[in-house]
Amino acid sequence: MFNSPVVGLLGGGQLGRMLMESANRLNIQMNVLDSENAPAKQISGHDGHVTGSFKDRASLRELAATCDVLTAEIEHVDTYALEEVAPRVKVEPSWRSIRIIQDKFMQKEHLAKFKIPQAEYRELEYNSRDELAKIGEELGYPLMLKSKTLAYDGRGNFKVKSKADIPVALEALEDRPLYAEKWAYFKMELAVIVVKTKDDVLSFPTVETVQEDSICKLVYAPARNISSSIDNKAQELARNAVAAFEGKGVFGVEMFLLEDDSLLLCELASRIHNSGHYTIEACSLSQFDAHLRAILDLPIPPSSLNIREPAIMLNILGGSNPDSHLKVADRALSVPNATVHLYSKGDARPGRKMGHITVTAPTMHEAEATMQPLIDFMDGKTQ
Ligand code: ATP
Ligand code: MG
Ligand code: MG
Repeated sequence: MFNSPVVGLLGGGQLGRMLMESANRLNIQMNVLDSENAPAKQISGHDGHVTGSFKDRASLRELAATCDVLTAEIEHVDTYALEEVAPRVKVEPSWRSIRIIQDKFMQKEHLAKFKIPQAEYRELEYNSRDELAKIGEELGYPLMLKSKTLAYDGRGNFKVKSKADIPVALEALEDRPLYAEKWAYFKMELAVIVVKTKDDVLSFPTVETVQEDSICKLVYAPARNISSSIDNKAQELARNAVAAFEGKGVFGVEMFLLEDDSLLLCELASRIHNSGHYTIEACSLSQFDAHLRAILDLPIPPSSLNIREPAIMLNILGGSNPDSHLKVADRALSVPNATVHLYSKGDARPGRKMGHITVTAPTMHEAEATMQPLIDFMDGKTQ
């Protein structure tokens, strides 16, 4: 067996925890920088972890001193601290890529240079009503007002339905750096997990994502009712977008499929991604396995990224009661071919990702039939 370098991970939430499961299987030591009992640390017994924040420079220096390769489960990290340690420790993907990607406006500007199709957008300089009204005349309504930074799960987005919404939209977001995006009338949202290795850009198949209140609820793998030509086009677009960035590792690419079957890139993430959780059960290499192999230059046979059996992933979100999410997980235990993942994140706030369930079946139709009662239960339609 190879003698693995030590990996340092910025952030130890659910993505870090699933990455740790992959690291554990290959005897890879991964040192996590996060708070004391972070989900990823709970399943890793060694004493190399660092207590602190991935936004704090001193903690990041401390982590860098303990490892050979640094990577991140979140893009909202201090890239200046990463830049500082980069001469001494490998940073994958590159801090330059993370710096561009963590600012969604910079990301769009960068991707535009590479001719990646995206919804039209405008930067706000003053966050003023007049400025947004002028942009509204140019882009039309509805439009999506977006925070450039620190966005996740739609926190940072505001749908501006008409000029009348401008004051309330700005009230919600005006203290953040903003841009506005033309509305994308999509018939489906697609996502592709891309793996950037030292000399290749590989992709998992195209999946369909369903967002509710801007939070990913369901992932269908492969995407339902799309032609192989759209599947190939989406994978190609995703690989081209990721090829525009330096460094190795997994990237999650989100796209809109429009009525005329054209594709627009929504955004990408420089990390393992919620739309790729299905790979744990559905593929021989998961996105987490692939990420570790990519950053450590280990082999990734391309056919290991194929889907062996159709899969559906349902996110378990915090509900109205502190234990609503546990009821869904409990129900799923009795469902055949369902795998339950709980993240052990502590308090469940409404909308917080607390776990997920993946169902696989010989056909998508059977997977749908298996998953539907769980969706109905989660939506409160059945007891
Ligand atoms: P994530 O948790 O994926 O990082 P985020 O907060 O960065 O989310 P986006 O991915 O930009 O936000 O948008 C969230 C969702 O809002 C999208 O998946 C899509 O459903 C909707 N959305 C975003 N931009 C547009 C647009 N221009 N037109 C229509 N819908 C949009
Ligand atoms: Mg995002
Ligand atoms: Mg998104």
